[in-house]
Amino acid sequence: VSGSGAAAAQHNPAVTLVETSGAPPYYAFRHLQADGTAFCGFSTRLGGVSSGPYASLNLGSTTADAWAHVEQNRRCLEAAYGYPLTEWIRLEHGNQVHVVDEAVLAARQADPSSPLPSADAVITCLEGVALTIYYADCVPVVIVDPVRRALGVVHAGWRGTLAGATSSAVQAMVERFGCEPADMLAGLGSSIGPCCFEVGADVIEQVRQRLGAWQESVMQPLNGTLKGAAEVRDERARVDLWQINALQLEAAGLLASRIQVSRLCTACQPALFYSYRRDRRVTGRLAMTAVLLRTQV
Ligand SMILES: [Zn+2]
Repeated sequence: VSGSGAAAAQHNPAVTLVETSGAPPYYAFRHLQADGTAFCGFSTRLGGVSSGPYASLNLGSTTADAWAHVEQNRRCLEAAYGYPLTEWIRLEHGNQVHVVDEAVLAARQADPSSPLPSADAVITCLEGVALTIYYADCVPVVIVDPVRRALGVVHAGWRGTLAGATSSAVQAMVERFGCEPADMLAGLGSSIGPCCFEVGADVIEQVRQRLGAWQESVMQPLNGTLKGAAEVRDERARVDLWQINALQLEAAGLLASRIQVSRLCTACQPALFYSYRRDRRVTGRLAMTAVLLRTQV
């Protein structure tokens, strides 16, 4: 089912497409596989039962797709991952971090349908507890500390990225679990790339205000020099959310050599990924799932 699209997307050695017969394929980060502390997978649109704009592995609960299809797709991907697609947060495009500890886990097990807290990052040091985020252009980020054995996943769309969601997740792992950023490994999954994320004056201005010193390396003007919103009302630019998140991870203390960017653009590859922007909001959702592997007894 994966076809030539998947093969073409495999040029980046940071990731590998994991294919097992009878299950949907998914991407994994090679450096995390080599490290062995955590499992992390992120999905494609291949291998599911949904049709139309949701074809075929739509995993989102907030789309107009048939719920029975979404549920079946989730079961298929869970079988491929070997872990449940447990969602812990309700995404809000901000920088709040939710900690899954023993108490949170017990409360969830006692009442699986209890409302989820609003946040865009979820962290844990509990082994075997799978963390999942759903997305369709936003940058999914996984952070693993093999020394303290801690894990985080982040949903960083442009708003969350500018709000520093990824930085907040690293900081929370340091504060809650005693992690050292220099020990951490990180991966950025499929998401809208600098090739396709074109923005107007309002976002350009926010990038300037919030990322000041980085703006030259994360923003490419499309109509001449960016002069400032007050002077040029119709200015356009392409923004590199991958680079911003990587710079935020480095600023937080991670080593550049331990940050891997999948460079899989959701908008460029309609055969492989859903894209909220490309498909004008009528589209499915992808999922990134990560879990700390249980240590051998
Ligand atoms: Zn693209």
